[in-house]
Amino acid sequence: MNAHQYFSLTAPAGVIALGMVLVACWWVQRRSRSARFLLWVAAGYVLPSLAMGLQSLMSNAQLSQWSLFTAVLYLAGLWCLAQGMALRAGIGSISWQAGALISAATLAGLYYHSRMHDDLWARMQWLNLGVGALLLLPARRLWRARLPADRLERLLHWSFLGLAAYHVLRAATAALLVPAHGPIVLTHSGYWLAMLAGSLLFAIWFSVLLLACSMRTVYMSMRDERNRDPLTRLLNRRGFEEAADALLGNGRSGPWVAVVGDIDHFKRVNDRCGHACGDQVLQAVSELLMQQVREQDLVARFGGEEFVLLLGRVQLPEAEKVVQRIREQLRAMPLAMLPPDMRITMSFGIAAVQTRQSLRASLDEADVLSYAAKQAGRDRIHLQAFA
Ligand code: GH3
Ligand code: MG
Ligand code: MG
Repeated sequence: MNAHQYFSLTAPAGVIALGMVLVACWWVQRRSRSARFLLWVAAGYVLPSLAMGLQSLMSNAQLSQWSLFTAVLYLAGLWCLAQGMALRAGIGSISWQAGALISAATLAGLYYHSRMHDDLWARMQWLNLGVGALLLLPARRLWRARLPADRLERLLHWSFLGLAAYHVLRAATAALLVPAHGPIVLTHSGYWLAMLAGSLLFAIWFSVLLLACSMRTVYMSMRDERNRDPLTRLLNRRGFEEAADALLGNGRSGPWVAVVGDIDHFKRVNDRCGHACGDQVLQAVSELLMQQVREQDLVARFGGEEFVLLLGRVQLPEAEKVVQRIREQLRAMPLAMLPPDMRITMSFGIAAVQTRQSLRASLDEADVLSYAAKQAGRDRIHLQAFA
């Protein structure tokens, strides 16, 4: 083995190491089903790199002799990569029948060009085309899928399409190179080195992107855990404060209105039908609140049976209409867990929020108003007096 060959092993070894990093990354998140794609991608790194590493040590005659074996590694690996990317993008598994068909055709071509009519460049082309076709399986659906809103996800999306395009292009350029590259030792050629470099660069690029996405997913789920109430999945006080700060910091989302609502006589619900049933009522109320506001509005549970809303782009009168609708729907909501004569009602206080700094004061005011609504007989809304 010469120095050149040793050097050729660095790229496949590097890619395999990156594959191991992805496996470690999966291990950390192994309880989450959505992290499973990392194993597919890791297999997509390791299998072709094994083939590439082995081939780097081979003479042309050995390449021909082992061509079917190495091709199976490439095809299986690229199929895994395509599958991993498809799962990651949420476009569902790719068709294994199509994968098997492409692989069988590729292997047939390779068999002919190694056993019957030995032709290295024809083999390269068959393999390039086979691998390109495998990557096109998810690429077609990915191309048609809606672009993810998130920038990092979009980059990943485009990178995968770039990878598929690279393989198809490589097949095309290899076709152009055929006549010029007849009698050379493949693994000493510039073409081979470019292939190694290409696979290493793509592997590094995808690893960085996937690790960044994974780290962000872990961070977001930790933040979610900290900022949400486990019973209702609504924001808790801390989550509300964080989100409110961001919302109020964005002037375009104003004007804002804070709403405090408290379930009436909730203790009776617990007393009559039990704590678990009370929990279900809290969940149903939370769902209704979420349904009745816009996506950018905040809905929080501050503890017990007290809920807080922060509505954006509304004035007090419109906010009152929204809360009126909530109050009416709540009253009419069928709740199978409750005795038939029992209705859930809430008392609300509503106050405008002028600035980020005055949120606290507005919440206090809405709280006082909701208390006044209770005093006035419950199941009603008290609105801040207009300035
Ligand atoms: P009011 O109309 O004056 O608000 O009367 P209320 O009974 O709703 O108010 P009170 O504050 O006296 O009682 C609130 C009850 O809410 C007491 C507590 O047991 C119950 N509660 C608080 N948190 C939970 C919870 O997570 N699950 C259930 N099931 N009950 C809860
Ligand atoms: Mg109450
Ligand atoms: Mg209360």
